[in-house]
Amino acid sequence: MASGRLSAVIAGGGIGGLATAIALSQRGVDVRVCERRVAFPEEGAGIQIGPNGARVLAELGVEEFLRDKVARPDALIVHDGATGRELARFPLADWIEQRHGAPYWTLHRRDLHHALRRRAEGDPRIVLSPGNEIVGFANDPEGVTAEGMNGEEHRASLLVAADGLWSRLRTQISGSAASLHPVGKTAFRSVAGANALPRELASNAVHIWLTAGAHAVHYPVSGGRDVALVVIADSTTADEGWDRPAAGEAVKQKTGVFAAPFRSLVERAPEWRQWSLYRTQPLVRWTSGRAALLGDAAHPILPFFAQGAVMALEDAATLAARVASSNGDIASSLSAYEMERRPRVAKVAAASVRNGRVYHMSGPAAFARDTVLRMRSGARIMAGFDWLYGWRL
Ligand SMILES: Cc1cc2nc3c(=O)[nH]c(=O)nc-3n(C[C@H](O)[C@H](O)[C@H](O)COP(=O)(O)OP(=O)(O)OC[C@H]3O[C@@H](n4cnc5c(N)ncnc54)[C@H](O)[C@@H]3O)c2cc1C
Repeated sequence: MASGRLSAVIAGGGIGGLATAIALSQRGVDVRVCERRVAFPEEGAGIQIGPNGARVLAELGVEEFLRDKVARPDALIVHDGATGRELARFPLADWIEQRHGAPYWTLHRRDLHHALRRRAEGDPRIVLSPGNEIVGFANDPEGVTAEGMNGEEHRASLLVAADGLWSRLRTQISGSAASLHPVGKTAFRSVAGANALPRELASNAVHIWLTAGAHAVHYPVSGGRDVALVVIADSTTADEGWDRPAAGEAVKQKTGVFAAPFRSLVERAPEWRQWSLYRTQPLVRWTSGRAALLGDAAHPILPFFAQGAVMALEDAATLAARVASSNGDIASSLSAYEMERRPRVAKVAAASVRNGRVYHMSGPAAFARDTVLRMRSGARIMAGFDWLYGWRL
């Protein structure tokens, strides 16, 4: 630990860990990012980044690495999944950018991760350390010592555990074992060339398809050259881990009731991966002395609102700002970060659970949902999310 200068060890080189490294470095903190895997992770498919996340990425100086990688959809279109009929159209593009001062982006998760990594690699205050799993830590009055898998020790002013859904450091920091519960749904994801889109779906938009017990989303990525697809459906099995191959036949079976244009897109998708969805009870605490949890490690969020990674970005900006104004009292600054983030994340997590319920409704409840969607103005509904997309530090 350099005397007089703050330093941080970050466990986890995902979106949250890299964003935190850049945000801390911008405030003069020396950072080491320890990533368990030998190669920084590349998995995933598409990701939507609302204005609240795009603003953080711009402030981190990551935007320039994303230039030809992002799409800026014109609208979010909701379909009745079985008939394909359009139920609602919500404005994005200029409408949302003018409202919130930042764009709504859709992109390949790999491109977002690359951009963060390239930005971090060019930063003299950041050391990236792949193949380096952090297994525990010890606080003392002068600093914190993070323990690596092979007995190595990393000394710093603070430790950020951005080690994801299956966090190893969560129990030590939160003081109680937090078990993850499968929610009985699986996400299937794929990326196809944009030419896989049937003509009627070839608009520059996020499309959401709703049926009982399953919904699907697709949107442009790679600057519009590809399309990312997600199908989330009821499932009786749950697998641990992020990224598993899935049989195309299983996805076809889950989407058998969907309208023909969507089924033809599923037919043309080259390769599917799958993730079981989990939730956990809110943790007793996110911090312990000089160590703090961040991103999915602190608060796994179901993906029905496309906000998990965005919450990790907001966490990163908040944590760095509180540490920078800490006057050396790291533990208090981390507590301030937790106090600030908890209500926000709880609100987004609850909205995501609600969305999941609404998306998968059946019978009269689905009929009532569709009626409301058809009658209300899309702009009016979107304006109801100003609290979400208008977030500022
Ligand atoms: C189907 C689906 C769709 C989604 N869509 C969206 C979306 O559109 N928009 C959005 O904002 N979010 C979305 N999300 C959520 C988003 O993917 C996560 O919230 C986000 O990846 C969390 O980032 P993270 O950095 O906290 O964790 P992760 O991305 O999981 O990164 C954790 C990293 O830590 C490493 N690691 C683990 N343990 C250790 C250790 N002990 N030491 C060192 N390194 C370690 C891992 O290898 C990994 O690289 C979606 C999620 C799912 C499942």
